[in-house]
Formats: sequence, C-alpha cells, structure tokens
Amino acid sequence: MDFLSANTMPWLSGAQGSLRAARATGRMPHSLLILSTPGLGAESLARWSGAFVLCDAPSGQPCGQCGACRLLASGTHPDIHLVELEEKAQQIKIEQVRELIEALTLKSYRGGYKVGIIDAAELLNANGANAFLKTLEEPTSGTLLILVAQPNHRLPATIASRCMRLTLRAPPREAAERWLNQQGAAPQSWDAALTLTGGAPLLALACDPAMVKSLDEEMRRDLAQLAAGHADLSLTAERWLRSEPQLRLRWLENWITWRVQVALIGEASAQSAEPVRLPAALLKPKIRPLFALLDATRDFRRLAPTSMNQQLALEALLIEGKTAFGP
Ligand SMILES: [Zn+2]
Repeated sequence: MDFLSANTMPWLSGAQGSLRAARATGRMPHSLLILSTPGLGAESLARWSGAFVLCDAPSGQPCGQCGACRLLASGTHPDIHLVELEEKAQQIKIEQVRELIEALTLKSYRGGYKVGIIDAAELLNANGANAFLKTLEEPTSGTLLILVAQPNHRLPATIASRCMRLTLRAPPREAAERWLNQQGAAPQSWDAALTLTGGAPLLALACDPAMVKSLDEEMRRDLAQLAAGHADLSLTAERWLRSEPQLRLRWLENWITWRVQVALIGEASAQSAEPVRLPAALLKPKIRPLFALLDATRDFRRLAPTSMNQQLALEALLIEGKTAFGP
C-alpha cells in the first residue's frame, strides 16, 4: 500500500497539518471524512492518515522504516482494512461494510490502532451508511475510520456530523503546473488538461494531451450545434457515453461555471481560462437555465455510476442544454 505519495502533493499539507495538530493535542478523532473531487489525491491522504496512526515510531508522519510501515508497504498489515467499490458494482455492498465493522471490533493484532478506510463512501447506500452509526456513536479506543467521499455525497447527517472533516481543494493553477512538471512527463502546456479536469493535478497527469485537444474541439462543436438546434440529441448522447463521459461532463460543468461567472461578475476568474470560443448565440447566457443545467450536470455525474439508463438521462440533460443555450 502506498502511504507516502501524499507527501509529494503539497496541496495536501494543510489537511496533514490538521491531523498532526489534532494528535499532538490529544484530540485525534475516531472518524475522518475526507471530502474531495476526484484527482486531488484524497485516497493517498486516507492511506497516509492510516499509516500516521499505525507507525511504530510516531512523529509528524509515518516514518516508512519501522515494522508497521514495512507491513503497510507490503500490504500485509493486519490492522488496516480497506473497502473499495468492487469491480462492476454500483454501490458498496452492505456485506463489505459488515466485514469492516466486525474487523474493527476485534482486538488489534499489533496492540496499536485499528484503521478502516472506505473509498468512494458516497456510494454507500443508506443501509450501508447506517451500519456505521453504532461504530461512530460508541467508538472503541484506538480505532480510526476514514471515509473518502465527493463533496456532493448524500451520506446521512448522523454519519457526516460525527466525523472530523477534511476538505481538499484544487491547488492554484501555477502550483498544479509546477507539480505536473515534476512528475517526469514530457514538458508541455498543462493548461488545457487542467481546465478540462477542473484543476485536478492527478487527473490532468493521466490525460493524453492529444485527447484533451480533440475532446475540447468536439465539445465546442457539440455545444454550438445544440445552441443552433441542429444537434441530434440521441446521437450526441450516444457518442458522449461511448468515450470519456465523465471527462466530457466535467468539461461541461467547468464551462458552465465559467459562463455563470462571466454572466454574474462580468469576467472570468483567473482560475478558469476560457475553455471555449463560442458562437455569438452562446454569448448572451440565460442565467437561470444555466444554473439548472449546472445542477443537472452535477446530478448526472454523481448518479451516472448508479443510473440504469445513462442514455436517457444524458438525453434529458441535453434537452436542458438546449433550453439554456438555444434561441
Ligand atoms: Zn513507521
């Protein structure tokens, strides 16, 4: 398990500092909720946090050398339990949750902390989330439960309110570019990739620059067609679903956010360079439908993994788009 990569991501240092401070003052929480959009290293921070409490030589961070750290590195530490979305599953299964809770009620094998990490906790269903309630209400000492979720999660308030919350934000554009240039990829402009990914460095790093460019061009064309009323909605939806649907929706979300900013304050913030040059028809935004479209886009991105009929949902979204952009 990789628990040291969080140290290479400077935008996580604020969250790491909060945990250090909590521990140093004897206020280490029993449960953490790490809120983050994808691509900011929330999973790395969760593993770092687990290692932070499991390390045998506790200082400001996991040492990477001790017995506990070596067990963690080889993935054989008996006191840390990971729950991830199973392949092709759309929700985290209640059985996975029960197994984790059971493991956390047992005595720690190495006499220290017991750690449970749940990635994509927004994909817990209500039963799964509620199963944690007892664990959170009556935490046994030396237990740390770490939930990683997207900011628009629908975890019950009874769960979320019992966790120490760490909210991650994308680093400033310059810092993101500096980090990306240190990752050993060929020197390039990261502007388009960062715009596309909402400034998320890990997503930008995973982007193929040629793909970013062609996706950007294709999305501009699609929006222009939508505005002009020439788009075949079902063909467009099919094409979006066939390749990079999540990136396309992220592009759309970023773009609408940028349009709303322009409409409201008359200029784009320095954070978001204009991702699209637009036909004149799109330059007079109708602010209310834009917000409706933004909500619909976010809902779709959140629900897409659980939606039975993505094609229909995306067509409905495009109809909203037609209202927002159309004449
Ligand atoms: Zn250690």
